Amino acid sequence: MQVWQSALLASIPGVVHGVSTRLGGVSRPPFATLNLSLQTGDRVEDVIENRRRFLARLGFNLDAAVWGEQVHGTVVRQVTRRDAAEKGVHAFPATDGLVTTQRGLALMAFFADCLPIMAAEEGGRAAGVAHAGWRGTIAGVARQLIVSLRACGVAPERIKVALGPCIKPCCYAVSEELYQRFRDEIGPQAVGRTRSGRPALDLAGANTALLVAAGVPESAIEVSPICTACRTDLFFSHRAERGNTGRFAAVVGLL
Ligand SMILES: [Zn+2]
Repeated sequence: MQVWQSALLASIPGVVHGVSTRLGGVSRPPFATLNLSLQTGDRVEDVIENRRRFLARLGFNLDAAVWGEQVHGTVVRQVTRRDAAEKGVHAFPATDGLVTTQRGLALMAFFADCLPIMAAEEGGRAAGVAHAGWRGTIAGVARQLIVSLRACGVAPERIKVALGPCIKPCCYAVSEELYQRFRDEIGPQAVGRTRSGRPALDLAGANTALLVAAGVPESAIEVSPICTACRTDLFFSHRAERGNTGRFAAVVGLL
């Protein structure tokens, strides 16, 4: 099974992380094959088997996974093993980010073009994940992730971040109005142009700027160069597949 990993996070002892691709699962089209979301209309038993495979690849059992019901918001929740055990389905309502200081939890979030943000304290004492589409980005979910890690006792200058595969400016045309809003509110790093020159958003650039503003050193942020809409052979893309597709996942945890 192919898994995207960041060299930066992989270098931290005790931190386990990875972004799944769409390869190596059992789902049928349009979810072929490693769809990890229960919210897409895919067969539940196929999604569970896919999750079991991906989590096992990272060294976790299926019941180690916790995730939020993503709403493009900014709520980041601190999770403990007890929370996970008490939640029958391990899903937290209206939550786009999770952090923990406890070992044995796989913090999981789902994507098809939105940006996976995975973070960890450089000594392996805390980890977090967040889901950032354009709404969550401009609302500040990246900042909330850092605020939540600070609440765990982690100084921002000790946080390392991996920004996984997402839709890139080449494929992310938006209205002139949204382009200007990103440029005005976040900065020139937050926008770009498509191949044909149309105004576009740069989710990874925008979130890098927001993380740096929150105190994370720019040198502690690794950005995947992969565009999910260009690489539908490897990743699910909401835009390139017109909404009829599955979700890949980002996982980070402490072992
Ligand atoms: Zn692209």
